[in-house]
Amino acid sequence: MDINTIRADFPILKQKIYGYPLAYLDSAATSQKPDSVINALSQFYQQNNANIHRGVYYLSESATKAYENARHSVQRFINAPHAKECIFVRSTTEAINLVAQCFGHLRVQPGDEIALSAMEHHSNIVPWQMLCEKKGATLKILPMNQRGELELDTLEHILTPKTKLLAITHASNALGTLNPIKKIIDVAHAHQVPVLVDGAQSTPHLKIDVQDLDCDFFTFSGHKTYGPTGIGVLYGKSRWLESMPPYQGGGEMISHVSFAKTTYNDLPYKFEAGTPAIAEVIALGTALEYIESIGWDFIRNHEQQLLAYATEALSSLPFIKLIGTAEEKIGVISFTMEGVHPHDVGSIVDQYGVAIRAGHHCAMPIMDFFNIPATARASFGLYNTLSDIDQLLQALQEVRKIFKL
Ligand code: PLP
Repeated sequence: MDINTIRADFPILKQKIYGYPLAYLDSAATSQKPDSVINALSQFYQQNNANIHRGVYYLSESATKAYENARHSVQRFINAPHAKECIFVRSTTEAINLVAQCFGHLRVQPGDEIALSAMEHHSNIVPWQMLCEKKGATLKILPMNQRGELELDTLEHILTPKTKLLAITHASNALGTLNPIKKIIDVAHAHQVPVLVDGAQSTPHLKIDVQDLDCDFFTFSGHKTYGPTGIGVLYGKSRWLESMPPYQGGGEMISHVSFAKTTYNDLPYKFEAGTPAIAEVIALGTALEYIESIGWDFIRNHEQQLLAYATEALSSLPFIKLIGTAEEKIGVISFTMEGVHPHDVGSIVDQYGVAIRAGHHCAMPIMDFFNIPATARASFGLYNTLSDIDQLLQALQEVRKIFKL
């Protein structure tokens, strides 16, 4: 695989920002889209637009076929046993809210516990807090150490007979930590605790096999996986999904409606009320096929090379402090600069064409743990190069000069 050929697939990367080549280092927030994904969206509206499942005419049938083909692409991509276990939702956020509401409604009683880790994104905290408030349940938090690694020795003590679910991230968006998720799931299952894996940050970077992981639920977002915004996936084992009540009421999720009683549709439609994001689903299928065409070996090796290069270069700068130094990481580097607010770092490097994120990254408990308000964060996608990182390093020297560090 040649990186220049890959970059040529991403039209946005060809532009200059303030006269500099765009060094896009914010793929953890959202990834850029290849031509094939952009074309899938416009092709759908130009040639195939019709509502799905209900039509008896050609366009509707072919749109339905493309939509359901995308579900099979998702099934293959995460190695789900059945396509009906792959539910299309708006995003990881919506997937977690769905499980919190529907699984929570079914399983959680006053006095029960939901276990989370100390490195969760707000979208894997707040839905559980809302559930706990409603049900009189409590949260238990698996702690982490100063490197940003979970303290797995304590997991056995966090899980109790009252624990109804462990909801945990596969990889941290703020620290880059890649958690040993299979081991964590094994421990939870040994305590009869089902596990939801937030795969928003892992799915773009490594092969996901939900059968090998044996997770009960797995979630990811299309827009971080080289696909469109507004589409995400919830995978769930059928036995859970079948026992859960529907998430929203409306068209398509029903089997029969009368004013006296409604019966619900089978999986996956029970959880897909109303007209879904048809074009986005189809383009998500295209994005997953694009990733597979590049290949996991290339993606993992390439991104690990970028991570190693950036980690070494940034750690050698005395004015930079890395936040999140776990042994196993995805391509995410968070850092602070002594005496400079991360927002200033982000704004100044932007002047040199470098797009990084600055803030709490929707992970305020992580910022509290490290006693900082925010970090600057560079994150990599399959299209980044060592010269993107060099451009960041040069721009950081400009920040240093301005703040006389
Ligand atoms: N979980 C993690 C670990 C994330 O990084 C993000 C987004 O940054 C989310 C969940 C939420 O994803 P979305 O905004 O696509 O719903």
